[in-house]
Amino acid sequence: MSDITLKPGVVTGEGYNTLVNAAKAGGYALPAVNVTGTNTINAVMEAAANANSDIIIQLSNSGAQFYAGRGIEDAFKAKVMGAVAAAQHAHLLAEYYGICVVMHTDHANKALIPWIEAMLVEGEKYYEQYGKPLYSSHMLDLSADPIDFNLSECARILERMAKLDMSLEIELGVTGGEEDGIGSDFDEGADNSKLYTQPADVLQAYNLLNPIGHFSVAASFGNVHGVYKPGNVKLRPEILKNSQTLVQQTHGTGDNPLHLVFHGGSGSEKAKITEAVSYGVFKMNIDTDTQFAFSEPVGQFVNENPKAFLYQVDPEDGTPYKKFYDPRKYLRLGEEGIIARLQEACDDLGSKGRSIARS
Ligand SMILES: [Zn+2]
Repeated sequence: MSDITLKPGVVTGEGYNTLVNAAKAGGYALPAVNVTGTNTINAVMEAAANANSDIIIQLSNSGAQFYAGRGIEDAFKAKVMGAVAAAQHAHLLAEYYGICVVMHTDHANKALIPWIEAMLVEGEKYYEQYGKPLYSSHMLDLSADPIDFNLSECARILERMAKLDMSLEIELGVTGGEEDGIGSDFDEGADNSKLYTQPADVLQAYNLLNPIGHFSVAASFGNVHGVYKPGNVKLRPEILKNSQTLVQQTHGTGDNPLHLVFHGGSGSEKAKITEAVSYGVFKMNIDTDTQFAFSEPVGQFVNENPKAFLYQVDPEDGTPYKKFYDPRKYLRLGEEGIIARLQEACDDLGSKGRSIARS
């Protein structure tokens, strides 16, 4: 049991580094769950509290837009301000759940570099006012572009983020499947070398970025976004180990010098997850599974109470249906679905009971 502790709430800067190191040293990883509004953020924090696990909350660009509301006509502004609103929500409330929360934004490809830069403008304002960053980390995913462009842009953005005590997640190699319209064609069953991150590329990233600031690497080892039919995902976690070994031997570091991230984890075998975590994975993204976990109990409730979604009062016997169609009734069922699903995720990742938050 580690005696390293942090105050409950959103962790950034040194606190974030401490949390990442505690997970790697403790042999567990944190679930990183995509959220789209207060219901999903609160459910994720409640799930973490129930599991006594620390947690990573992340928003995609369209998740952030949805958070701000579809009614805002300027979609770009909504993507920025929705992200700000979500982070402020977590800064206000996370401490009351008694666990540590990392606030992060998910995939941003080349077209979304302006989104990252606009969030950093907001982050700089927040830092000036509160002396800490708004977000713990952002992801810049230029894995679809040539590696030299990918890394030089990551270096440029990380220079700016390091001044705010923030961390950058980069991607090397291409995660298969589609995530929020960003991703690549999944070449089913192909032995595609692009699906497997090359250790030499990881070393090049380390050489350039490590002197600038804190960063993590989403590496591809056969993982895919979304859930496909069983057998399509052929995970090869040893690819992660090869990258760690190359950096370790080149730079004479300790074990697992890289902070690794596992994308496309929905539906993975537990043994492969455990193996990946042993090679320095501290974060596993979970999106698709929690979407279904929210919607499934809502669908069941509607199926069981169809009249309550057609009439306020039963036209035949006059039964009032208010307590069924009150949105809190079924939104809570969706929240409970997420909470139950994330208990399994915390179990799989070994983070259950491992929160380092102490009041
Ligand atoms: Zn991803």
